[in-house]
Amino acid sequence: MTSGSPDRAAFHEFVSRHRRFLLTTHINPDGDGLGSEVATALWLAARGGTTRIVNDSVMPPAFAFLARHVPFETFEADLAERHLTESDAVIVLDTSNRQRIGRLAPLLDRHAIPVAVVDHHVSHARGFGQVNVIEPEASATGEILYDLIREGGVAITPAIAEALYVALMTDTGSFRYSNTDPHAHRMAAELLAHGLDPQRLHSQVHSHASAERLRFFGEVLSGLELLSDGRLVVLEAAPEQFQRHGLAGADTDGLVDLPRTIAGVEAVALFSEVEPGKVKVSLRSTGRVAIDQVCSRLGGGGHIHAAGVLLRGTRAQAREGILPELDRLIAALPAGPVMDEHATLAAPNPAGAGPGRSPRAEGP
Ligand code: 5GP
Ligand code: MN
Repeated sequence: MTSGSPDRAAFHEFVSRHRRFLLTTHINPDGDGLGSEVATALWLAARGGTTRIVNDSVMPPAFAFLARHVPFETFEADLAERHLTESDAVIVLDTSNRQRIGRLAPLLDRHAIPVAVVDHHVSHARGFGQVNVIEPEASATGEILYDLIREGGVAITPAIAEALYVALMTDTGSFRYSNTDPHAHRMAAELLAHGLDPQRLHSQVHSHASAERLRFFGEVLSGLELLSDGRLVVLEAAPEQFQRHGLAGADTDGLVDLPRTIAGVEAVALFSEVEPGKVKVSLRSTGRVAIDQVCSRLGGGGHIHAAGVLLRGTRAQAREGILPELDRLIAALPAGPVMDEHATLAAPNPAGAGPGRSPRAEGP
């Protein structure tokens, strides 16, 4: 499904057929969505195209540095209408779920504009574009773009390399998650050869927390519950806590990942109620239990080891919809994780390409 695939060929054809592009990504955009937008915009510009980037959400401060190469705009009805009218085609990056692009979604129908989707999430539908490059085995959407750009015959510039590196670094949890494989490291090495400074990029992305946010993390973490025989961690954040610390939903970023460090934990669930009656559920697996379906059956989605869903109702109702299923999945696991000295060694691959690539991405 990779190089030379019919979907990729259709994408190259899509890009050749149009000149004025509107790019977008999912709500609460992350480094992969935003980095993929920058790389795509720079690539299309190098091919003589023009691009606009319009996202539902504002640019998070951690990624503001990416906007020095290409302008980002936040959704406003008039602005979106105008850009859609002036564009020949839309490219949606890092989501294949129409709802996840937010307020732009209903406008797409009205404008009947051709859409291409590039994404690496596990998708049960085929994607909502005329062209869909959906490759769940890719660590990041940026990894698919790295291939597409090179297949398209445009040189990777330092600015494109930086955007793609940010995409890869953030979606692999800085090369820690189970989607970190030889291909991801090879890509990182090739991108760094364009003169990037990995230490600087990492700190640019990860040095934006406020003291208040850490106090909030501390408060939520001190209330953590250990369920399912110590194998499931549950965190809750109440509207009152967001208010008291002056924080928004996006400020929980990274919180759900912290309890993975507790010995014996198979999964973490965060129930984050920013506004009363709206509960954002974030699930993480430490690698053995597949949790994507727990969210997708409730209308959410994600990856095998990192998924989410927004539920209406109380936190107690959200727990009721999620925790029994998680407990069942954890109880069905074979006895305790193997922790001998060989546990972290993947089976050798005779082709020398490392473990086979499978849809097991863990990053957002
Ligand atoms: P997070 O917990 O960091 O918000 O999201 C983890 C993963 O689940 C990400 O890949 C994200 O795209 C996906 N995800 C989170 N919330 C939703 C949701 O409401 N709907 C869908 N389809 N995916 C989600
Ligand atoms: Mn991604």
